[in-house]
Amino acid sequence: MKRQHRRLTGNKLVVATHNAGKLREINELLEPYGLEAVSAGALGLPEPVEDGLSFTANAALKAHAAARGSGLPALADDSGLAVEALGGQPGIYSARWGGENKDFGLAMARVEDELQKAGAKEAKDRGAKFICALTLAWPDGHEESFQGEVEGTIVWPPKGDHGFGYDPIFFSHKYNMTMAELDPEVKQRISHRADAFARLRTACLDNNR
Ligand code: IMP
Repeated sequence: MKRQHRRLTGNKLVVATHNAGKLREINELLEPYGLEAVSAGALGLPEPVEDGLSFTANAALKAHAAARGSGLPALADDSGLAVEALGGQPGIYSARWGGENKDFGLAMARVEDELQKAGAKEAKDRGAKFICALTLAWPDGHEESFQGEVEGTIVWPPKGDHGFGYDPIFFSHKYNMTMAELDPEVKQRISHRADAFARLRTACLDNNR
């Protein structure tokens, strides 16, 4: 039997992130649905400890904490870069590779350094994915989770000024440029976040808007 997803009926939603880049992209994805999105940061909600062992576990714990703390449905994203030759690293630790100062110049250099150590010099050995888990949680504890991904290749040096995080070293063969060189509108259509959001939209949003 096909599982019934719970639909979002109100028009107010908390976006459970303190990451400005993600907040901007999620707000843009929500805009066409007439949803009023407030950020967890703006509500003064604390950031929970992300001690889950998967993207979905972390998205769920952030969404539940924000839903409980606000009394509103909450949407959380947990995402990151998984490099094939590094056994999927940095994975759920993508943000942590930026260190305390969230320095992604440093994080990108570490990815390159690890790839050099692994002898991955040619494009065919430098495959990677961006993965995104989105969880929509309600104050009564119900949750709906979806995953999306996009494939690419790690390049060096970093290129492009758009986007955030690891975008400047993530090369899309389809568009022949890095995610940070892509027009932000195009990234919004093809990204791992867009892929996960399309699944969430179909399950929880489309029919009641
Ligand atoms: P989280 O807040 O633990 O989910 O951290 C995810 C980290 O993964 C971010 O800080 C970025 O470094 C990276 N990341 C996630 N999505 C993207 C993206 O769209 N582009 C580039 N880096 C991303």
